[in-house]
Amino acid sequence: MCHAELAREGVGFRVLEDRRFEGGCSALGAVQLAEIGTPVANLGAMTCPLARQFARWVREAVQPAASQWLGTPVRRIETFGTYACRGRNGQAGARLSEHGLANAVDVSGFVLADGRRVTVEQGWNGTDERIRAFLRTVHAAGCRRFSIGLGPDSDAYHYNHLHFDMGRGPYCR
Ligand SMILES: [Zn+2]
Repeated sequence: MCHAELAREGVGFRVLEDRRFEGGCSALGAVQLAEIGTPVANLGAMTCPLARQFARWVREAVQPAASQWLGTPVRRIETFGTYACRGRNGQAGARLSEHGLANAVDVSGFVLADGRRVTVEQGWNGTDERIRAFLRTVHAAGCRRFSIGLGPDSDAYHYNHLHFDMGRGPYCR
């Protein structure tokens, strides 16, 4: 069902085989995104609902926000990846992160068509008002599409990326 929706929305992707790992980690019904209109670095396995919301977020939120606040489109999106078998916030012994279920993505930056590079780490509390507005706009838009959205205002672990996942929400900070 989700795969059909994804195809209908013009997203290029490959369906991955179900995989189960040690420690309760898995990637079930996951896809590898290939073409969503904007190149994205480091995307691995993503559950289909996550991939679908991500593709919509890029098209409907990131690109319009870049035009609005920065006056140029985004040429490439940088991420720290999707699937990783680990506890929440990378802590051993903590509850399994949604990353362990291929159900989360960490977005770290945006390369603009004019050559500038906007990172969450430098831009969120940086001196450029428009970059701060752009990052807050895409964070808020992510909160509307994903179950959970976390940015640098959430806790010290998220000082350099926006975390979005399709776990149990809603939660936005
Ligand atoms: Zn994350």
